[in-house]
Parts: sequence; structure tokens; C-alpha cells
Amino acid sequence: PPSRLPVALSANAYEVVIGRGLLPRAGGLLAPHLPSRRVAIVSDAAVAALHLPTLRAGLAEAGFEIRAEVTVPPGEGSKRLPMLEEVLEAILAAGADRGTAVIALGGGVVGDLAGFAAAVALRGLPFVQIPTTLLAQVDSSVGGKTGVNLRAGKNLAGAFHQPRIVLADTDALSTLPARELRAGWGEVAKHGLLQGPLWDWCEAQGPAAMAGDPDALRHAVLESCRLKAGVVVADEKEEAAEGGRALLNLGHTFAHALEAECGYDGSLLHGEAVAVGLGLAASLSARLGHCAQEWPGRVMEHLAAVGLPARLGDLPRGFSAEALIGRMRKDKKVRDGAMRFVLMRGAGGAFTTSDVPPEVVAALLRDEG
Ligand code: NAD
Ligand code: ZN
Repeated sequence: PPSRLPVALSANAYEVVIGRGLLPRAGGLLAPHLPSRRVAIVSDAAVAALHLPTLRAGLAEAGFEIRAEVTVPPGEGSKRLPMLEEVLEAILAAGADRGTAVIALGGGVVGDLAGFAAAVALRGLPFVQIPTTLLAQVDSSVGGKTGVNLRAGKNLAGAFHQPRIVLADTDALSTLPARELRAGWGEVAKHGLLQGPLWDWCEAQGPAAMAGDPDALRHAVLESCRLKAGVVVADEKEEAAEGGRALLNLGHTFAHALEAECGYDGSLLHGEAVAVGLGLAASLSARLGHCAQEWPGRVMEHLAAVGLPARLGDLPRGFSAEALIGRMRKDKKVRDGAMRFVLMRGAGGAFTTSDVPPEVVAALLRDEG
């Protein structure tokens, strides 16, 4: 039987269902959580070709009526306002009413776009996440953040809109390109470092998970969602001044700077940037004396063992320390130009701080680059 993880938000509690063979049973799994059996499915062309027929059959079995199927081109380029408009028009042209649920079948791009559409269509339709990438199963499908990118920056238009239920079918991961699977592990490793015991498990089982072991994948998704759900429940709207949801940004101050330097051209996947960011965050923590000197090596060794880039030098291009620091000072969460980092005292001991001398960061980036 699948694992069921409760996400105990005060206003709307929901479950993340994790396991194999969920798509063929989707109708029966969703029905108790939705107001009607009318749905609109949003997917991307690559995922739809592989998994939409299975979802259709699983919904039909439980008497669902698919009012609309909207398929967007794969890739980050679909997370834009014109595509939001397309999705909204298609859903409403198909006669969606307040009881029609929007189902996102796909990775984080589809989840963020479809979730935003569900948040604003008729001022809010029931929403279902069926994440098909490891990144979406361990990260983006839980937490309720939805949105699109603007020219001014990534994810700058959006809404909090929690799903009624999340179905994480680990079988869907078998068709995921290996590089995308590994990128999702960047977030799993992050969750491991935030949680503690999960880090030890990652070191032991990460390579098996990357080889497709279904039990390892289920455990990685379940424990990642448990960690993320706990953080989200404690700080639903990202309002905590210290800690809270901000801890989920471990490795991300560096990652966002790397992604921005690459111009989001697809050459560097988010999870790859996060992996390098985790190595740098561990190194920075060690340099500042917050954690034992063994941590940077341990983190990088694990990332390399699962096939992720672990240090700046593993990336196909170079980066200037000054340019990266310039980016970090402009991060959207930065106030008054002070770079904000999540640092670690060890696995399970992360904390947020702006008390990091820029010259230490510059020296680190030069030494590691
Ligand atoms: P993605 O949705 O672009 O998917 C990656 C690629 O894999 C796409 O080409 C897609 O077509 C393909 N794909 C997806 N599932 C597949 C499958 N089962 N088999 C074969 N191919 C498959 O990217 P992603 O990494 O899943 O998500 C990245 C997005 O998530 C970013 O836009 C990011 O901002 C967002 N995100 C959101 C949150 C949040 O809290 N809402 C958190 C983290 C990331
Ligand atoms: Zn991330």
C-alpha cells in the first residue's frame, strides 16, 4: 500500500500519497477529496505523451469526466503569463465551474503554472498535484507556492494555493531522463542536511535511488515531503523572521546566483545548482567555524557519488566571484544588500544568518572556483 503523509495545515489539511502504481488508480484516490468528478488536466507535451493515457484510464474507472486537457510545451519557458492566460481560457471555455478540479500532471513547471491557474480561475478551483519529476515529488508539489516568472525575475507573480491531495507515483520517475532524476536528488540531499538522520540514509541509499530502486525512491520522497511539510506547517506563508521556511533555502543563495549567471539557459538545472550550493554552504559553514571541518568533504563526496556536480569546478564553465556576489546581493529576499545565507552546524543544525563577511564569501568562491 502507498504511504500517506498528512500535511496538517490549519485551514486545509491534505495528504501526500506516495508509492507505486498510483496513476492507474488515480480516480479512486482522488474522489474522496474533491467536490465533484469534473476535472481539467494540465500537463506538458512530453509528460502527456508518456503518462496522460494512464491517468485518463485511472480517472475513467472511477467515473470522472475530463472537461479539458491542456498541454503546454515542456520547459521553464511555459511558466509565463501568456501561458497562464492560455490555460485559464482553455479551462473556462470547457465549462469549468467552482466544483471542477484542476489536476497538474508534470514537473514543477506544470505544477506552478496549473496551481496558479487554479488559484485565480473563478477566484479559486480545487487543485490536485500529480508530480512526475523527482524535484516536484520531493519539493515543489508540497507547500502551496504557485506562480510564473516575469522578466523582472523568477517566480515573481504567484499565489499560495494548497492542493486537495498530492499523488506522487514513483513509477512515473522511470521515464524521467537520468539527469533530471539526479537534479531532483539535489533537493533530497538538502532535506537530508536539514533533517539529520535522513542525511545518513542519503549517503547509504542515494546511489540505489539514482539507479531506480523503487523502495529507495519511495523513502526519499516520503522523508523529503515529511521534512518539507513540517517546515511549511510551521511557517505557511514564509513569514518567520528566523528559521522557518527560509531554512529550505540551504544552498540556494549560491544556487540562485549560479542560475542567474547562466541566464536560465537550461545549461544548469536547478537541482545541479543546488548541489553546488550545498557544497559551498558546507564549506562556508566550516570556514566560519560553525561546523566540523569534515562536513564540506562529506557533502561533496555524497553529491559526486550520485552523479551531481559538487563544486564550482565541476560545472562546465567558470564563474567570477565578484559577479556571483553581485547576484547574491540582489537576491529577491535580500534586504539592504546584506547577503542572507542558511548555514549548518552539521546535519540537522541549519540556521539563517546575514552575519557573513563578504570577503570570506569572495575568498571561498575564488578558492573553490
Ligand atoms: P520541469 O517541470 O520542467 O520538468 C523537467 C523536464 O522533465 C521537462 O522537460 C518535462 O517535460 C520532463 N518530465 C517531467 N516528468 C517526466 C517524466 N515522468 N518522464 C519524462 N520526462 C518528464 O522541471 P522540474 O525540475 O520538475 O521543476 C522546476 C520548476 O519547479 C521551476 O520552475 C521551479 O521554479 C519550480 N519549483 C517550484 C517550487 C514550489 O515550491 N512551487 C519549488 C521548487 C521548484
Ligand atoms: Zn530548490
